[in-house]
This record gives sequence, C-alpha cells and structure tokens, in this order.
Amino acid sequence: INPVPSDIDVSQSVEPLTIPELAKLIGIKPNEYEVHGDFRGKIKLDAYENRKNQPNGKYVIVTGINPTPLGEGKTTTSVGLSQSIGAHLNKKVFTCLRCPSRGPTFGIKGGAAGGGYSQVIPMETFNLDLPDIDAVSIANNLLAAAIDTRMFHESTQKDGALFRRLCPVTKEGKKRFSKSMLKRLKKLGIDKTKPEELTEEEITKFVRLNIDPETISWRRVVDVNDRFLRGITVGEGKSERGRTRKTAFDIAVASETMAILALSTGLQDLRERMGKIVIGNDKKGLPVTSEDLGVAGAMTVLMKEALKPNLMQTLERTPVLVHAGPFANIAHGNSSIIADQIALKLVGEDGYVVTEAGFGADCGLEKFFNIKCRTSGLSPNCVVIVATVRALKVHGGLPLKECKNKNLDALAKGLPNLTQHIENIKKFGVPCVVAINQFHTDDEEEINLIIEEAKKAGAFDAVPSNHFAKGGLGAIALAEAVDRACQEESKFKLLYEDNISLKDKIITIAKEIYRADGVDFLNETEQQLEMFEKNGFGKLPICIAKTQYSFSHDAKLLGAPRGFRIPVSEVRASVGAGFIFPLLGKMMTMPGLPTRPAYYDVDVDENGKTVGLF
Ligand code: ADP
Ligand code: MG
Repeated sequence: INPVPSDIDVSQSVEPLTIPELAKLIGIKPNEYEVHGDFRGKIKLDAYENRKNQPNGKYVIVTGINPTPLGEGKTTTSVGLSQSIGAHLNKKVFTCLRCPSRGPTFGIKGGAAGGGYSQVIPMETFNLDLPDIDAVSIANNLLAAAIDTRMFHESTQKDGALFRRLCPVTKEGKKRFSKSMLKRLKKLGIDKTKPEELTEEEITKFVRLNIDPETISWRRVVDVNDRFLRGITVGEGKSERGRTRKTAFDIAVASETMAILALSTGLQDLRERMGKIVIGNDKKGLPVTSEDLGVAGAMTVLMKEALKPNLMQTLERTPVLVHAGPFANIAHGNSSIIADQIALKLVGEDGYVVTEAGFGADCGLEKFFNIKCRTSGLSPNCVVIVATVRALKVHGGLPLKECKNKNLDALAKGLPNLTQHIENIKKFGVPCVVAINQFHTDDEEEINLIIEEAKKAGAFDAVPSNHFAKGGLGAIALAEAVDRACQEESKFKLLYEDNISLKDKIITIAKEIYRADGVDFLNETEQQLEMFEKNGFGKLPICIAKTQYSFSHDAKLLGAPRGFRIPVSEVRASVGAGFIFPLLGKMMTMPGLPTRPAYYDVDVDENGKTVGLF
C-alpha cells in the first residue's frame, strides 16, 4: 500500500502465529520453550545444550552510520533482511534484537520494533510487555538496598552482635555460613568453614565491610525517563537517624545488571558475574563486591527467568529472539550472547542469524566486536552497515528539514562518514555490505553516488533496499549480497589484545576508530585506571560512553572529523559485566522527557486495543 500505513496499523493487520505453531516451524520441541501470553514465548537454555555439538549458522551483524535523532533504520533493516532471507530466499533465519526500554518508548523515539512492512509483531508486546527489564531492575535494586542496609547495621552494632545476626544458630543448633560468606572468608585469606572457629580478630575482619560511602558507584534504577531522579538523597526516614546519602537513579538499561544479562553465557556464568560486581571501595581502598554483601545468589535467582530469550516473530513469520537491552551510547548496546548462541544452533549450517548493534558503528559495532565477540568467542561472517541519504546529507552540513530535496553536493560532503566506517570495519577482517535504507524522497543519482563511493572505500557490495515499503520482497538484493558476503572467508580479528594496558586500549579505539589525534585523561582518570589494573581488572576490554551522533565526543562534529582529541572525564569498572567504562564528557545516564512525550498518544480504544504506539 502506498503510502505505507502507520507502524501500529501494519503491525495489527497481520494475525501472528501462535507460539506452538512458530516453535514447530523452527524445529524446537515442546519441552524446549514456554508460552507467555498469546504471541510471546521463552526459549529454554536446553535448546542450546541439546544442540551444542552441531555447527553454527552464519552470523550477520547490522550496524549504521552515525545517526540523526530520527534513527536511520537499523532495526527495520535487520527485520526486512531477515524476512527476505526467510520468506523469499527460503533459508533458515533468526533475528536477534534488544528489548526496548520503555523510557524512550514513552519519551521521544516511540516504538522500536522496526517500521513499515518490516516489523516484529505484535509491536505492543515487543514495546511494552517484555518482562526482563523488570527482573534486571529488581535484581539491581536489591543490591542497592543491600549496600545501604549493611552500612546502617555496621554503624549501629558491635562486632559480636553483627556476627551473631549474620551467622544465626539454626534449628539443629549449629551456626552457619552461606556460600557467599565462605567466599568472603577465602578472599580475606581465612581458611575456615565453621563460624565457631573464628577468632575475635577474624570476626572483626569478617563482619565489617567498612564501605567508604564516597566511593559507592552502584545506583538504583528504573525503566522510566524520570529526570527528577538524576540526583536524590536516601535515608531521609526518621528510623535511619540521619544516615542520609546523596545518590541517583539511572535508567535500567544503562545498568551493569543489564550488561551482565547481555554478556552471560549461561546460568553459572551469570552467577559468577553477579558476584564480581564491584559496588565501591572499603575505607582501605579495596574493592567491595556484591558477593561480600551476600546478595549475588539472590540476584541470580531474580534473573533466572530473564536469562531465557523471548521468542517472537516478524510480519512475515520468521522467528525473532528479543533479549537484553543495554543502551548503546552509555552501555555496550548489543542484545544477548545467549540468544545469538541459541539462534546460531537453531538455524543450522546453512542458516542465518541477523543481529543489530545499537547506534553508529563507532558505538555499537566496535563494542559488538571487542566486548561481545571477545566474551562469546563467536566470529561474525558479515557486517551490514545501514546508511540513509538523509543522514549523509546531514553529515554534509544540511539541516535535517532540508534533506528531502535532491542535493548531490551535501551528499558528497557527508559520504566520508560512511566510508570511514567501512574502512574501520575492514580492520576487523569482516566483509561489509552497505544497505541504503530507501525513503520515498530518495533520488536515483543520490543512491548511485553512495554505491560508487562505498565500493571505492572497500565495501563488499552496496545496495538500495526498500523493505520499509515492501517488506522482505524489497530486500532481496540485500539478502543476496549478504548471502554472497557470507561465502567469503571471514578473517575476523579483535582490535586490541587483552594484555595491553587499559590506557593503551582506550588510545587504540580513539585513534583507530574515532581517528582522534590523542586522548586527554582528565580528573585523575589515569590514576584510577592504574588502580583498576592493580586490583586485577587490567585484562578487561573497554566500553566507551560517548555521543552517538559523531565519531568524536562532540555531537556537533559531523562527517569524518579530524584534528580533535578525546577527553576522558571519568572511568568506572563494570567488573561483573566484564569491561572498563570510560566516559567522554558528561554522559546522561537518566534521560528526560520532552514537553509532549510520546505517552500523550498511547491509549486503549473501545475494544481494549492499544493505540498510538507510532
Ligand atoms: P534504528 O534501529 O537505526 O534506530 P529504526 O529501524 O528503529 O532505526 O527506525 C527509526 C524510525 O524510522 C522508525 O520509526 C521507522 O519506522 C522509520 N523508518 C525506518 N526506515 C524507514 C524508511 N525507509 N522509510 C520511512 N521510515 C523509515
Ligand atoms: Mg534499533
């Protein structure tokens, strides 16, 4: 239909398969999945275990040029490409996407299930009814409560009382340690397994974490754009007797807990990562972990259900795994390793897994390679980089409003943004296909110019794709190009080794990917990086928090900027997730809402149907 109806109208025009129907189609047995509601399932981790020795399918990762605030269509392209591979090339395919945060859904951006005739359905389920972010939030907040509670009890009780309460006498008349207490004793170098055996000196060491409140980096989270939580004071209740502390909320998808969900490779791995979370330091400057607080096991239990990927489908009935949703500018921006692992087995050797990395290739794709693939050991076969005529014109200096008119000059000026991404992708040794996501205002000459320049820069191929208006049918050329690229030998390599210093890792990314002249380490970040190395975190990869709009730290430097230096203003360690987290300039970890947020339009109609979700 021309023009294409609204996303929610297209979404609701198709009757989805039930989950058992879909499960049958993709070849999983009834004991390998669960049904939740009408059109959402969860795949059990057994589905992977049962196929562990089978070969993987081809691993395709969809990224983009630096976007405009409107988004350039990575999700739409991931879905359109998958629909084409599955319903038109008739090969097995899975799409793996992130769970959308309800923050942006009700804020500026609206839904995130793709668009036009390339969508995950039902879009209201995709955008509003996935439970995993809530599990992440409660696990995260349990740890936050554990921190303040422990400091409270340590400040009100003597060693002996604290010890008696931590190790109560059971019905059998024995004092007992928990698993995490045994781990803490080991960390302290105390080789004892029975509470009775501890000396008084050891008891003092054992019961007091002595958290330095100034160093606590763990925050509470919620999945709402609530700007008034950017700074808060806790402990204002009378019963806390003046033990107040300034802290803040982050949006849930910026949390380390979410990153852990995305990077875990199984339940035991999740448990280990939960225990490694560093919440701050003690008064001697040594890291305090969630394991020390005794809460890592409970956090894992809260996340157990969330560890199973959600099974949904596209408009053309190809399967989708929606799982984990870390933001791409302030987190690592990729869906889960577990979902990709399962999908790669389910599609088999001749099949395809298409997954999306958030924001521009300098944000999400760099982290997909250097963090996600480093952790999983999986090796990608092909990168699809999404470009639009409009965004390239913006990179060429044109205001967004004027991008509908033909302008070869502005386009040519903006093209270095695309070609620099192509050159960067080649450094990882993976073939790269450019998908020009077509808008009805695009001009043929403009598209041809992009194709020509992309090939000159070393793209394996570059093709226009009309999946927004035509679904999988509009993406056949793209699917065929991807299919051909996947027959190439992938010589995938990481950008840096585990063993170089944290500083050198940051400098490598800044120079090789952003093309900065150098890095300025501000505010004692250099000393902090040294401290991380001393504490044993030096082998971790880097997750840089930066603007998505530019290769640089400055949103206004469009195109392919040169002659700038990168300022690192803050560094944090996400030890559970397994990365070091430098921040370039002030990065907002709790978004706000505009005057007229998207929630104004969201409602139910007379029949109880959700309306207004774009
Ligand atoms: P990204 O994943 O890169 O952020 P999306 O795929 O979510 O981008 O697309 C952003 C918005 O643009 C969505 O609302 C989508 O419907 C719309 N969109 C994407 N491609 C097109 C297109 N070719 N024509 C018109 N609108 C599009
Ligand atoms: Mg997207």
